[in-house]
Amino acid sequence: MIKELLAHVRPHRGILVLGGLLGLVGSAAGLAMPLLAKYVVDAFGEDRSMAGPLIALSVAVVIGAVVSALGTYLMERTGEGIVLGARRRLVDRLFRLKVADVDRLKPGDLLSRVTGDTTLLRAVLTNGIVNSIGAVFMLVGAIVMMATMDGVLLLVTLLVVVVIGGLVGLIMPRIQRAQKQAQEAVGEMGAVLDRSLQAYRTVKASGAEEREIAVVGDAATLARDKGLQVAGWTSLAGVATWMAVQIAFLCVLAVGGARVASGALVISSLIAFLLYLFYLVAPIGQIVEGLVQLQQGLAAMKRIKEIEDLPAEPVSAGSAVAGSEPVGIRFEDVVFRYGDDRPIVHDGVSFEVPPGGLTALVGPSGAGKSTVFALLERFYEHQDGMITVDGRDIRDWPLADLRATLGYVEQDAPVLAGTLRENLLFAAQDATEEELLRAVARTRLDDLVARLPEGLETAVGHRGVLLSGGERQRVAIARALLRKPRLLLLDEATSQLDAVNELRLREVIAEVAAETTVLVIAHRLSTVTNADRIVVMEAGGVRAVGTHDELVGRDDLYRELAATQFLVG
Ligand code: ATP
Repeated sequence: MIKELLAHVRPHRGILVLGGLLGLVGSAAGLAMPLLAKYVVDAFGEDRSMAGPLIALSVAVVIGAVVSALGTYLMERTGEGIVLGARRRLVDRLFRLKVADVDRLKPGDLLSRVTGDTTLLRAVLTNGIVNSIGAVFMLVGAIVMMATMDGVLLLVTLLVVVVIGGLVGLIMPRIQRAQKQAQEAVGEMGAVLDRSLQAYRTVKASGAEEREIAVVGDAATLARDKGLQVAGWTSLAGVATWMAVQIAFLCVLAVGGARVASGALVISSLIAFLLYLFYLVAPIGQIVEGLVQLQQGLAAMKRIKEIEDLPAEPVSAGSAVAGSEPVGIRFEDVVFRYGDDRPIVHDGVSFEVPPGGLTALVGPSGAGKSTVFALLERFYEHQDGMITVDGRDIRDWPLADLRATLGYVEQDAPVLAGTLRENLLFAAQDATEEELLRAVARTRLDDLVARLPEGLETAVGHRGVLLSGGERQRVAIARALLRKPRLLLLDEATSQLDAVNELRLREVIAEVAAETTVLVIAHRLSTVTNADRIVVMEAGGVRAVGTHDELVGRDDLYRELAATQFLVG
């Protein structure tokens, strides 16, 4: 983990070293001060001019201050750079994860890892490292100086420091553990908050405000409790160091006093020794603080690594020239389950869709229809059997090419916050204005665009709340069409559309099917009766394939579905 932490520093090591050197110069200036003070005292005692030592002392003070300020700025700058780098890396990985892994993660917690945990890296990797190095330098310097003053006193000091240092060492892992739990609690708070905000209207409609407030509040309280644990251990470590110096001071005063009385030590050396002892307070404090920050950084690093260590989707160059003719697909004894501990969803699914025309997938809820789309898009990998697109095993397709070949409209037709134009161009950034307007017309969105105050530039609100369900669906279709897919996958929403919207949708689908292959999961008779072929799925298998009339004649399940589900709708 420490190696991982340092990997984040590597790109910034130049500036960090510079900042560190400035810090060292600042420390050196500080280190020289007691010695200069001793010269001032000696000069006083020996009746020499004090001007020289005093000027040297003043110069050391000024240089120390300026250099330290510059060093601090460079550190902060590096810190921001490190946080930026960590965020970029994490976000980059986040968008390349496999869908199956993301299913298990909580969006709110991910958000907190990107925003919160990365911030924790800043302190440890800049101030933490540099201050600790500077502090170690000062510590060693002070100890060397102390050794030249009096070996016996040094021994007394070191003994006390080592004992307390051991204690602090015991505390550190506890800080790390508590810090990780604190960050996890913050992540959990993000997760529950996200859950409630995603279903804001449902929360209100269910009268669940108080309960959700309590749930988020509990998570916040847990985060506070864990934070208090961190604070407790941290202050204990602080007190231990403070005590170390105080005890060392008393011991040195007693032993040193005796040695001065016996003539083994001159008084100016004892004064300088005590000054050095006080100079130890700051560096020891900084080292302890650095160690505490290291624990916090390690805790954050663990949480960041948990995401970065997840496998990414295979990256393929992609040929970019995808062609434009409609493609056919084939499922051959496909076996699939969402996880090893999950029930089998596809248990030998076989069917074929020739290029062009409209094919409908129908079947009871949970039959595995949407899963067909998920497998085609390779959101998940099927365990057995073969799926081909355009005669080619989808495992051999470069992922980007495969997805560029398919246009996919999800069941709940997601619309993203932003303008209508941004939403339409989401999958095809370089579509021309003409293509855009054509897609708008084809999906019968022109009325809507004409009605909206700012036309295509109108903001659609968070998740498109300012649009109706039917409009959202057609926006999603237009978006998929702008990508010029060779196969359109349309997961028709189960929600009832009104007659006008349904007619429009039917027209759109028929038009698109004239140009490309359309595979639609149908919940409406209108879509089904028009289809060139219908694939009836039931309990993870394909039960029958045929046209509406054929199937009504020979398939009981289809007849029943048609009688209840489609016709009643
Ligand atoms: P509907 O018509 O209601 O949309 P469907 O035929 O499209 O149903 P699928 O969405 O393919 O059905 O789901 C088939 C089964 O797989 C269901 O039992 C469902 O619980 C399960 N399932 C779907 N998505 C996931 C997922 N991401 N992780 C785990 N199980 C899932």
